[in-house]
Amino acid sequence: YGVPQIELNNGVRIPQFGFGTFQLSADDVTAAVRTALEAGYRHLDTAQAYENEEGVGEGIRQSGVPREEVFVTTKLANDAHGHDNAITALEGSLQRLELEYVDLYLIHWPLPNQDKYVRTWHGFEELVRAGKTRAIGVSNFGVAELERLAHESQIVPAVNQIELHPALQQAELRAQHEARGIATEAWSPLGQGEVLGDPLLTGLAEKYGKTAAQIVLRWHVQIGNIVFPKSATPERIRENLAVFDFELSDADLASIGSLEAGLHTGPDPAEFRG
Ligand code: NAD
Repeated sequence: YGVPQIELNNGVRIPQFGFGTFQLSADDVTAAVRTALEAGYRHLDTAQAYENEEGVGEGIRQSGVPREEVFVTTKLANDAHGHDNAITALEGSLQRLELEYVDLYLIHWPLPNQDKYVRTWHGFEELVRAGKTRAIGVSNFGVAELERLAHESQIVPAVNQIELHPALQQAELRAQHEARGIATEAWSPLGQGEVLGDPLLTGLAEKYGKTAAQIVLRWHVQIGNIVFPKSATPERIRENLAVFDFELSDADLASIGSLEAGLHTGPDPAEFRG
């Protein structure tokens, strides 16, 4: 069972299912990335702020999987906003990853109080034209920031990466993305594990002969989100990817809708100031 690919608004294709590396230390990340690639993952999500880009690059090389078969995302650190800084920051990430290009480069947080994200984005537009990244996108952007980019720049972000899981379903932003041709990437797709004990999910797990984590990841896949759950445990790394051999019924998909609780397990972008 293959992982589906989603076509981004510039024609680049992204595997809908990948591996997240937040909170994996520089020491642990290499083995985790190698395990993920050996298990069949072909999409990795890292960031300058995770301080593990060297280990991610090393994991790719150790796996023996050709570079061009792996979709690599990294993100601009919060202290690197601005047109010129953005260009320098990606150069630094490429050196740490030991890659010639990344597949997707994201503004990690808009930090609207600094009012630099539009100039940063103009730097990103140059980076994609220069071939340093195949696509550019944003993360933690709200409706107002997407609107401002639309008015003050040329390239529509390929993705917006936002916190999204059964307890925070982001209906408004998902509709905005749909209208603007932006793909939705779901960070903390398992709510960092916090949502998995819910009786509705454990009940569905029993019904389908899967784990609650697999039920949640399958829900994301069926509603069209791009996901990259994180685990340091080889068994869970493999378990999380094993969601392409079953399908949730429409009624069961809809029942997960009832778990919306407005729960932020990470920083709320409306309040986050870096
Ligand atoms: P996640 O929702 O993927 O949860 C990871 C945690 O869930 C693990 O640490 C583990 O405790 C648990 N878990 C994983 N697999 C499990 C399983 N099969 N069964 C039971 N428990 C399991 O959380 P995350 O790591 O925060 O998010 C995924 C990725 O999203 C990150 O690694 C990172 O790449 C990205 N991310 C981006 C931002 C952003 O601001 N753009 C913020 C947070 C995360």
